[in-house]
Amino acid sequence: MDGTCCLQHSDIGATMKGMKSGPLDAKDRLKVLAEDSRYDLSCACGTGEEDRRKRGGNGKWLYPLSLPRGGYSLILKTLLSNACVNNCKYCPLRSDSDVRRCMLQPEEVARLFMEYQGRAGVFGLFLSSGVIRNPDHTMDRINAVARILRRRYRYRGYIHLKIIPGASDGAIEDAVSLASAVSLNIETPGRRHFEKLSAEKDYDRDILRPLKLMSRLTARGMPYSRVKCTSQFIVGASEENDGEIISSMSGLYDRLRFSRLYFSAYQKGLGTSDVPGEKRILSSAEEPFIREHRLYQVDFLLRKYGFEGSEIPLDSEGNLLLDRDPKQAWADSHPEFYPVRINRAERDDLLRVPGLGPETVSWIMQNRRDGRISRLDHLPVRGKRLETIKRYAVAE
Ligand code: SF4
Repeated sequence: MDGTCCLQHSDIGATMKGMKSGPLDAKDRLKVLAEDSRYDLSCACGTGEEDRRKRGGNGKWLYPLSLPRGGYSLILKTLLSNACVNNCKYCPLRSDSDVRRCMLQPEEVARLFMEYQGRAGVFGLFLSSGVIRNPDHTMDRINAVARILRRRYRYRGYIHLKIIPGASDGAIEDAVSLASAVSLNIETPGRRHFEKLSAEKDYDRDILRPLKLMSRLTARGMPYSRVKCTSQFIVGASEENDGEIISSMSGLYDRLRFSRLYFSAYQKGLGTSDVPGEKRILSSAEEPFIREHRLYQVDFLLRKYGFEGSEIPLDSEGNLLLDRDPKQAWADSHPEFYPVRINRAERDDLLRVPGLGPETVSWIMQNRRDGRISRLDHLPVRGKRLETIKRYAVAE
């Protein structure tokens, strides 16, 4: 599931339910808070197919991270506090859930991060929190960590800060000025669904307004244009359908120019039992995870394959077909488009061939400049993928 956009128990201090009694040192609290940060995927942590919810093997609070230019590294990912004044129904850290609570001070996070950064070659820091007192108080503490790192430790590397829903414009701009990337979880495609999950937060004021401000502050030509913006949807918690999520994705990419979107399947048992959509989830425990996977495939089609959101095939209920990937589904519903002639087709058309990805299409474009590709067997792909390509393309 998901949640932790942000995470009170008034001063939680250093004792926690389920942990050894007595004061806990900063590393013990980091252990708890890093573990509870796993619900938030919008930092590109674990975006590999197999490791989306796993922590790194090198340390309990280090998570695998997909690097912007390809490859993997580790990121220190933690919350400042896992207690929250809000009670979002899908969130395991909501105020009425019975979980161990603790908090780190900004100085502690900065010091611990610098220790790990030096020792383990950590790529950067991802910092989120439950709402401590109110959004701006929380945002000030998050920003304080980044300020200490940038000024006291002269750290120039990657810092991803979570924008707390409802934070003021000034606090958001402060975060953007200190961060390499910022994110705020949109959670649902629209107010109607959002209201089912959160009574305290207002969709327009606390979610849409900050998302738009993040977009304006980081637009091309603005002082913070180097800062990346990301967001995350929770899938299957509010009876939303995939078509609504895809439409919302298009808005975030096309109008707000966000860099990446992430999806987190709602997992029964982590939130309250009266989350709308629970019956549907109970009917198939795997369904939200398959939907999550299909939405990541759609995300690739929108970002890398030139597809529009309106082109993605949906079933009669507005959902993605669970039994095949959306590119294959598009190909199956457009027989008139095939076969694609690999020696003549435009790049965008080649990208519509099932089995052909951006790298193979670049290979085709490069190699046909030097001469005709006489056989599909000459493509740098083998096995089932090649057989799929042969059903949709010809060497003409
Ligand atoms: S309860 Fe809501 S506001 Fe608090 S951490 Fe969870 S998702 Fe964020």
